[in-house]
Order: sequence, then C-alpha cells, then structure tokens
Amino acid sequence: MSSVDGAPAVLARVPAGMHIDGRWVAAIDGEEFESVDPATGRVIARVPRAQAADVDRAVAAARSAFDDGRWGEAVSARDRARILHRMSDLVRERRDELVEIEVLDCGKPLADARGDIDEVAFMFEYYAGWATKIAGDIPPVGSDALSLVVREPVGVCGLIVPWNYPMLMAAQKVAPALATGCTVVLKPAEQTPLTALCMAAIAEEAGLPAGVLNVVTGFGVEAGEPMLTDPRVDKISFTGSLGVGRHIQRTCADQLKRVTLELGGKSPNIVFGDAPIAEAIVGTAAGIFGNQGEVCSAGSRVFVHASVYDEVLEGMVAQASAIRLGSGLDESTTMGPLVSARQRDRVRSFVDAAPGDGARHVFTGALPESAELAEGFFVAPSVFEVPDHSPAIAREEIFGPVATVFRFEDVDEVVRQANNTEYGLAAAIWTRDINLALTTARRVRAGVVWVNDSQPAPSESLWGGYKQSGVGRELGRYALDAYLETKQIYINLGS
Ligand code: ADP
Repeated sequence: MSSVDGAPAVLARVPAGMHIDGRWVAAIDGEEFESVDPATGRVIARVPRAQAADVDRAVAAARSAFDDGRWGEAVSARDRARILHRMSDLVRERRDELVEIEVLDCGKPLADARGDIDEVAFMFEYYAGWATKIAGDIPPVGSDALSLVVREPVGVCGLIVPWNYPMLMAAQKVAPALATGCTVVLKPAEQTPLTALCMAAIAEEAGLPAGVLNVVTGFGVEAGEPMLTDPRVDKISFTGSLGVGRHIQRTCADQLKRVTLELGGKSPNIVFGDAPIAEAIVGTAAGIFGNQGEVCSAGSRVFVHASVYDEVLEGMVAQASAIRLGSGLDESTTMGPLVSARQRDRVRSFVDAAPGDGARHVFTGALPESAELAEGFFVAPSVFEVPDHSPAIAREEIFGPVATVFRFEDVDEVVRQANNTEYGLAAAIWTRDINLALTTARRVRAGVVWVNDSQPAPSESLWGGYKQSGVGRELGRYALDAYLETKQIYINLGS
C-alpha cells in the first residue's frame, strides 16, 4: 500500500506492497488502484494492481512451498498449530488497529468490526486446534491386508473473498487451508484489500514459512481469473455473487479443479403467530439491517403471520427509524455506508423501482446530515410490503438495507413461499412451539436455519447453502473436508 496525503494515521500499519513468496512487492508493471473510505468517498490508500504476471509469481511461490514440503512433511502438525495460535494472538494484540482499518476500508460500524476481528482471532485459534486432530481411518478389509485411509492437503488453494466481511471471510478460508497443510494465494476484493495485507504481515511475524500465504491485490478479472485456469492451482474457494460463482464453477470444470462456492441468498425470516414478539421484531430487523444489509444470509424476505402482522410491521418500522446512519468510526453509528458508489446506486435503483413494480412503500429512514459525509455511499434503511414474489425486490438479492414483508395465513403456504427462490442459504423461524420450529426447520431448503434468532454464524459450526447458494460447506470441521484429499494405502499382508 502506498500512503495518500491526509490519510488516517492507522493506515501506516498496512504493509506496502502485495505479499508474494515472503516479500512485499509492487505489481510488475507498477500499476496501483485506489482504496476509498466509503463514508467520505475519499481515497485513503493505493494498492498494487495485480495482473496475470503477478498472479503467476504468487501461484509459482505457493506451488513450490507446497511441493517442497516446507508446510507439509518439514513441519509437524504441532508446529502448524503453534503458528496458527501465534497468528490468533497477534490478531488479538492488534485488534484496535485492525478494527479501525476494516472500518475505513468497508464502512461498517466499529461494534460490527470488533465482532469481525474477534472472530478472526478465534478462527485461527479454532483451526489451530484441528491441525493436530486430522486423522484417517483403518477400515476392516480382512486378515490378509491392511487398508489405511489417510487425509492429505489438497494442495495450492486460490481463495477469492468479498468485501462485506473482508478479514473474516479471508480467515474463514485461510485458517482451515493452513491447518490442513495447504498453501494459499489469497485475493481480497478490490474494494477492501487492506486487512488481507495485514493478515499476511501477521502470518510472517508468526513464523509462517515464505510462500505459504501469498496475497495478490487487484480486480476479479485481472487478479482472480488467472487462478481459475492455472493448472498449478488445485482448489478454488470463492465467496461472492451468484454470477461470478457460476463462471468460476464452469471455468474450473475444464481441469476438474476442486471448488467451494458460497454465494448469495434471499433468505426467509418467518414470524409465526405465537412468536416471542419483542425478540422477533428486534431479530428480524437486525437480520436485514445489520451490516447495512450487505450480508449473503440477510433475512430479506420477512413472512409474518396475519395475526401479528400489523404489530410486527410497526415494530420493524420503529427499529428502522431508530437506526443511526453515520461514519463507522463514530461510536454512536449503528449503520455505516455501503461499500461503494456502485453498490449504493444498485440498491437505490431497486428501491426506486419498487413502488411501480407492485411493492407498497412503508418506510425509509434518514440519511446522515453531516457535510463531511455528503459524498459517502449511504442508503437509508427501508421497508416495503409485497403481495407476492412478483416485485423484483421480493426476488432478487439486493445486498442492502431493504426489507420486503409478506403476510401469510398457514404453515404449508409459508413453507412453499419460503422455498420459492433459486437460493437456499439461510432461514430464520420465530415461534414458541418447538414442534412447529423443528418441522418447519426440516422443510425449509436452506443450509442454515435459525430458531428464535437471526444471523449467528459460530466458527465451530457449519456454513453453506442449498440450491444456487453454493457448493460445499465452510466453518467447523466441515471446512477441513474442503481442503483435504482422501487416499487409500492398501498393504497386502498375505503370502
Ligand atoms: P460483487 O459483485 O458483490 O462485488 P463479486 O462476486 O463480483 O461480488 O466479487 C467477489 C470476489 O470475486 C472479489 O474478490 C472479486 O474481485 C472476485 N471476482 C470477480 N470476478 C471474478 C472472476 N472473473 N474471476 C475470479 N474472481 C473474480
């Protein structure tokens, strides 16, 4: 990163350059791109703009690091665990600066960024624990032979991450990849490259051998795409939009590269008539307005039973009107700007089109008044009622603070409507009836179902989608499978 005049002092903590083969380097052609503070629209940093030639160097470094065993046979699982623990400690030590850098780069409020960085620290700690517990199996095959099933790292992993939880999404992939003994080329989103560079600096300080974690900064087509077609890359793990996910799956099919995809959602949030109403209102609003609605699992389709419909709708409007938009660095802010002008314009275009498209506008909140934030990418939270799925805002992933509220009468109908989407990432169900909660949870076609809550994603558990929300699973022990191959070694013990 090269500094920009007048940029906040904390940005001096971001290393200069990309991290390739243990060195901090500029792009080969010297090009850079700008990183912008979404709250003010001001340029805060310039970062190397990687092209295919830079990615080639990073992939070569990761390939050598994998093939020469410097992160495999040369280190014990204990040593891998120790380095991951050290990374976790360093994230905790640098929490305040990482939080501030994250807020400056992606706009989210301080409290949210603190939650992210704390989970990053835990993620490294959690997978440090797994490094020493990845074991195989000895299936019985008769007395004349021994069959050993062993787990081995998949190899060089291209990890492509989005901008809504920049360091957390990177850690979600990097930590299990390193725990299993893979080597990595990490590409952060072009909107939010800074904390990925900090992660590489932390890894270096923790003693990770050179070439094991490489970070290339740049745009999708220039810095991400070359990894898809490079035969030295064994695995791609991607979190981002459905369109790019499809393209990645298609491109990787040529080499049968292993692929994990975590894509979008249009998640249902179902409030039954017997729900704990106060909690349901707060949780439902947080499920769509949290993190500015820039959440793949956001509960963007709110289904409310007719018996509590008016109360819940009123409650959601009260929650939305209590949201305070502002700079993420202001402690009193509860909603920051969207990540970019492009994202702001996209969300606004959905909101502007909604009334003419069959949705009834119920509420839109206030934008920040400060002149300092006049050029920021703010979109106020809004609530719409929809009769069915015909308005675009009821069907398409908006990735902004826009709630669409549906009324329902019976369980079969709401389950059918909840499943009436190409996505299947998450769902929330609010009820006091345990049978209703569990039967509905079983019937909803989604990878994550919350009962009387919305959005928790504990690193120890599981994440991933049904249908077009993705392929494969992340988090918990399930993520390990994404970075491991499984081999049988058969030994003839007979004569
Ligand atoms: P969004 O549209 O919300 O910005 P994307 O899915 O485009 O989300 O981006 C998620 C990540 O995927 C980013 O790191 C982006 O640079 C990367 N990306 C975008 N296009 C490609 C591509 N063709 N190949 C590889 N990576 C890509």
